[in-house]
Amino acid sequence: MSSQTQSSPAHDAKPALPKRAQIVLSGTKPTGENLHLGNYFGALRQFVDLQDQHDTALYFIADYHSMTSLRNGAERRRNTLNVALDYLAAGLDPERAILFRQSDLPEVTELTWILTSVTPMGMLERAHAYKAAQDKGEDVDHGLFTYPVLMAADILLYGSHLVPVGRDQKQHIEMARDMAHRFNRLYECEALTLPEPYILEETATVPGTDGRKMSKSYGNTIAMFAAKNAVKKAVMGIVTDSTPVEAPKDVQQAVFEIWSLFATPEEREAMFARARAGGLGYGDVKKDLLARLMDYFEPMRARRAALEARPQEIEAVLRAGVVRARQLAMPVLEACREAAGLGPVRG
Ligand code: AMP
Repeated sequence: MSSQTQSSPAHDAKPALPKRAQIVLSGTKPTGENLHLGNYFGALRQFVDLQDQHDTALYFIADYHSMTSLRNGAERRRNTLNVALDYLAAGLDPERAILFRQSDLPEVTELTWILTSVTPMGMLERAHAYKAAQDKGEDVDHGLFTYPVLMAADILLYGSHLVPVGRDQKQHIEMARDMAHRFNRLYECEALTLPEPYILEETATVPGTDGRKMSKSYGNTIAMFAAKNAVKKAVMGIVTDSTPVEAPKDVQQAVFEIWSLFATPEEREAMFARARAGGLGYGDVKKDLLARLMDYFEPMRARRAALEARPQEIEAVLRAGVVRARQLAMPVLEACREAAGLGPVRG
């Protein structure tokens, strides 16, 4: 089995972009040591693709958002640097995309308040993350409950048209649209632009090693840049059914879905035919997956290692990014303030 390919099915089936899309924006929470395959195939790879296709692309590190689950400042700083490294290693280019840290533009919290005042409680009570936490009987703090409003502010503050994300974020973008619409209607203005999600069907929900959605909170991730031993352990630990080697296999399993991320459509078809015919061992699929995965990320790993030695450069990239982000944000915030009758009288 070859481990050379860099393309995958998702590359060949992208949804048409809305014509008027000019500003692309997305973010990632710095809640772990480094990003996983779900983050990469569900979102980050699209960030890289889209940085060249639009007038402006903004990608931020959502450190305010991470506060609902991470209560260690030193760890947040480390993770924030790591997400910046992952962004750059994956191919985001500060010349072509604006990379910044969410908390460097605290004005986003002002827009959060403005939006909070037009957001019905019922809308927030329907949010998946809040409902899931409640179902688990967790103590829900106000940050988690209000999370969708901060996310709406993140998107709306820059007049974003298109938001590349995994499927788990679709509901949040719908909520951002609702809030923008309500604000514009209540204050009879057009201060806020309604964003569209950009979700690739094939990688909308990347499964984790246990078959559930890959997520740090489930402990089922395969990290992009972990040490080879750790990646190997995670890959070899992907849960499979107990079908014997010679028997036909069900291809609707995480091991095949994850393997497919690193295969062309033709390779996928051939692999699935072999699986259905019987005689294919899961161990062989996992070994091939590991080889492909290591090959795929090798150039990015090398880039990351080089960048890691120069953290001051990363900081400079983020500081330059927020200057450009602020230029987009301030007119939108001013338009909201003006419509809502906030601040000094103009003119
Ligand atoms: P987060 O870690 O929640 O900040 O996620 C960053 C981005 O990765 C968001 O756009 C998510 O939708 C996406 N993402 C996270 N996990 C997955 C997954 N298992 N499959 C697809 N996309 C994902």
